[in-house]
Amino acid sequence: MFRIGTANIQEVVDRIKESNRVASTKRTRYPEWEHKAISDCYVFISCPCNEDCFCRKHGCNGHWIIRDDLTFAQFLAHFANLWTPYRDSLQSAVLEGTKPHPRNAAAIPYLEVLRDQWLSSGGPLLKRIVKYPHCLVCDTPLDAYGRAVTSAAMNVYQSKAVSQLFYDVVVPYDTGSRHEMMKAGYGDPRNSLLNVTDQLRRDVQKFIVNNAITMSEFRQLDNPQGSHKVHLQTSQIVQV
Ligand SMILES: [Zn+2]
Ligand SMILES: [Zn+2]
Repeated sequence: MFRIGTANIQEVVDRIKESNRVASTKRTRYPEWEHKAISDCYVFISCPCNEDCFCRKHGCNGHWIIRDDLTFAQFLAHFANLWTPYRDSLQSAVLEGTKPHPRNAAAIPYLEVLRDQWLSSGGPLLKRIVKYPHCLVCDTPLDAYGRAVTSAAMNVYQSKAVSQLFYDVVVPYDTGSRHEMMKAGYGDPRNSLLNVTDQLRRDVQKFIVNNAITMSEFRQLDNPQGSHKVHLQTSQIVQV
């Protein structure tokens, strides 16, 4: 059982280290691809919040947001690299309508929706997302649109896609981490990814307050020697 709200710094650092070690041994090599995704898909912007937002009160220096000129093909390539060993088959299934590998079949319908919404007449999807550039610990990390998209995520693959859209807010899950989350007392993310996102926000806020650290220091926990522009690694904290 592990709950970040009651953890100390060393416990979280150890947890992230172990998570990165385990992830690097898997076929999808998540940490390596995440590094590539960060440089291709996201920009680190100055914190846009008012001074009374939780993040600003705790030394926030900025948030990661998705680039509004990212093409769907780029997004899809990173989705494939991050989350599946059957990369080419996933991309051609979504872009060319070929038959997907059976392990990817559940991912296709939602990716097709995103493909069609990417440049839809209601306004480009990414422009709507970057209009509200907040992070997980902000008092209101998502606007009504972001909350609707997050609560519509009904399976593992959708959670991964939504986490790519709201990179600094939404935590993806898989079967293993879902069980870890539930064992730790979080809700079932399959029932409501939005509820779990809210629970994690409160826990991360508690962790920051209890340990008297700033947001920059929190981001550095995953990368002590590097820059402080690190993604909120809450997914890695709750899963190993
Ligand atoms: Zn901020
Ligand atoms: Zn904020």
